[in-house]
Parts: sequence; structure tokens; C-alpha cells
Amino acid sequence: MLVAGLFGLQMAVVFAVLQRTPGMGRAGLNSWVAGALLVTAATVLLAAQDYLPEWLTLNLVDLVMTAALSSMVYGTRRFFGKRGGAVALCLLNLAVLANAAYFDWAGVSPAEPALVFILANTYLPLLLLRVVAPQVRAKRGTGRLAALSLGLIALACAAMGLYQAIDLRLLPAGLAWLAKRPSRETFAVLHAFGIVSLAVSFALLAHDSLRRRLERRASYDDLTDVLSRGPYWEALEEACKQADRQQRPLTVAFIDLDHFKAINDLYGHLAGDSVLRHFSGLLRKTVRADDFVGRLGGEEFGIVMPNTALDQGRAISLRLSALVRTTPCPSEPDAISYTVSIGMAERLPGEGADTLMRRADNALYDAKTMGRNCVSTQPIERLAGMATPPRMRVSQAS
Ligand code: GH3
Ligand code: MG
Ligand code: MG
Repeated sequence: MLVAGLFGLQMAVVFAVLQRTPGMGRAGLNSWVAGALLVTAATVLLAAQDYLPEWLTLNLVDLVMTAALSSMVYGTRRFFGKRGGAVALCLLNLAVLANAAYFDWAGVSPAEPALVFILANTYLPLLLLRVVAPQVRAKRGTGRLAALSLGLIALACAAMGLYQAIDLRLLPAGLAWLAKRPSRETFAVLHAFGIVSLAVSFALLAHDSLRRRLERRASYDDLTDVLSRGPYWEALEEACKQADRQQRPLTVAFIDLDHFKAINDLYGHLAGDSVLRHFSGLLRKTVRADDFVGRLGGEEFGIVMPNTALDQGRAISLRLSALVRTTPCPSEPDAISYTVSIGMAERLPGEGADTLMRRADNALYDAKTMGRNCVSTQPIERLAGMATPPRMRVSQAS
């Protein structure tokens, strides 16, 4: 009992720390702090039962435990962005209170817990299970494991409630061994342990979500939600190694928004930011699942296309260029039309990320020189020291 109480206290501290960690930014953890503290209070009440009337202690313990579980259900719903359902949970707690008061008035034996309490403590874990079940499929790794264990413990808690609720005289002969039910105090301690175990699993789930959030924040650009420069570069270097290992082609595109300074000057920096966000949306829509995109500087972006030869990559860039041309960025009072210039390069055998991107940058320079709003490729032959073909203009401003 003491162990469950101390455990509950520690979990309250864990949730408080998680709640205050920068980057967590999720509602609901305060309710888990309250839930864990309530479980501790319930174990203190149980420990004090020698000094209090038995009916009072046990009914109070049941009530506090229901409140703890309700607080946790509320917190879990809020954590996953759902409505907490506070009114319904309060009504449930009031019903448990009324039922306990009636049992006391009617002089029911303290060995029997209030029926509404039992039902509430079967229903609440099932409610928790319902909120968490979709997370088992949605999460990966530690998150999935934590969601799974939370679901299983909730199921065990519900089964325990049900076991308390069933009329043992109705059991078939084969299940007669179940009829020797533990005492109400034992159930209270088991409930306390169950609820604290739920808290441990939920803390793991919350921690996993925090870790993923921080990892994402470190790798992705805040404004445009594509890879930031460092992670883009690392991913490109890895893609180069993989292209060597698998002897597959690799193509990169270097993109620069045209006359972006003029957009800032004309519409303001906030509108400029909207254009960058709008463009990154189009960019993510155009690339394929295996490609990755990053923001390399102010209004400069890169696409890495693994297993892609120059022609295929150019088709993708042309699609992107056309999409940008025909999709102005929504703005008040008028939508902002803009264009992009794209330079492309296919990787030569053994070539590193730096040289590859420099060639794409040269091609981008070509595109700017040719009047912008176009895609330029720098043919491999030219750099391989072969006969220099004429520069290609593959897309002209419309
Ligand atoms: P060009 O067609 O030759 O590329 O002309 P440009 O005006 O796009 O080129 P330049 O590099 O001179 O301008 C880039 C501008 O992008 C300058 C800078 O103020 C702006 N910029 C860089 N980062 C941001 C940002 O995060 N938000 C906004 N709104 N503007 C940015
Ligand atoms: Mg520019
Ligand atoms: Mg630029």
C-alpha cells in the first residue's frame, strides 16, 4: 500500500516535470498530476483505516480512486486533442458519491462496495482504452509499446471491476474457483497499483511524444516544415553513399524563388513568409515519397531524388515550376503570383554532396541568367570533360 502511495507521488512529480519541459506544449498532463496525487491520497486513507470507521475509509477510498481515474481519462483525452468530457465525468463522480452515501444510510455491510463505484471503475478504464487504442496503430517504437501496455493495463483494471460486479452465485460450476473473492481492501490496493501502472505507461507515452516533437523541431525548418539545412545535408550525403552502394542514379534540384526581395518590399515580410510557406506546400505536394526536400537558405530550397536520372528529375521540376506559376499564394487583398528558377544535376559516380550541389547551383545560375521562371540542367558530359553541348533551356516563362 505504502509502495503504491510513494509510486503515485513519484509519478505526480514525473508528470509535473514533463509538463514543464520546453517543447511539450500538450494539454492534459496537469490532470495526470492530479490523478497521481489522488491515488496517493487513497493509499494514505487506506493506511489510516485503523483509526477511522471502516465504512468511511473504504467509501472514501473508492471515491478518491474514481476521481483519480476520471482525472486521468480527462487528461488523456485532452492530451490527444479531444474534448475532455468534464461534465460527464463530474456527473459520474457525483453518482458514485450518492451511491456510497445511500449505502451508508441503508446500513449495507462495509464488505460490499457501492455498485455505481464498481461500474464506474469498470467503465473508466474502458474509456481510457478507447482513447489509447488508435495510438497503438498510429505510434511506432517506444510510443507503440507504451500505448499497448497502457491499453492492456486498462483492460486488466476493467476486468477487475467486472469481477467485483458479477454476482458470484451466477457463476457456472466450472468457474466456482472464482467465487472466493478477495476482500474489499485487497481490491482497493490492487486498484491503486493498477492506476499507478497506468500512470507509468502514460508517462512513457508522453515522453515518447515529447522526444519526437523535439527531434522534429531540431530537423525541420519552423516556417516551411521541410528539412533544415544541416539535416538536409546529412541526408544528401547518406543518399550519395547509398547511390554508390546500389549503383543507382541520384539527381538533385536547387530552387530559388524569383525576385523574392521585391515580394518582401511590395507586400511586406509577413506576406513573404506566407509565400515561403505556400511554396513549401506545393513542393511537398510535387515530390514523391522517397524524395526529400530542405530549406537551404532564405528563399532557397533543395530536392534530393534518389534512384532518379536527370530526365525523370527534370520532369518533376517542370511540374513543380508549372504548379508554382499557376497557383498564386492566397493573400489579402490580392493573391501573390510568383515564380521559381530551378537548377538540376545528376550525380556522377563517386561524386560527393558538395560538388553535386555546386553543379546544381551553377545550373540555377544558368536559369537565372536565362531570365528566371525556368528549369536548367547542367549536362553531365560538360563536367566530365566531354564535348560541351549547348546550354539547355527546358522551360520558358509563360
Ligand atoms: P533573384 O530572382 O535573383 O533570386 O532575386 P531575389 O530578390 O529573390 O534574390 P535575393 O537573394 O536578393 O533576395 C532574397 C531575399 O529573401 C532577401 C531576404 O530579405 C529575403 N528573405 C530571406 N529569408 C527570408 C524569410 O525567412 N522571410 C522573408 N519574408 N524573407 C526572407
Ligand atoms: Mg531569389
Ligand atoms: Mg536567393
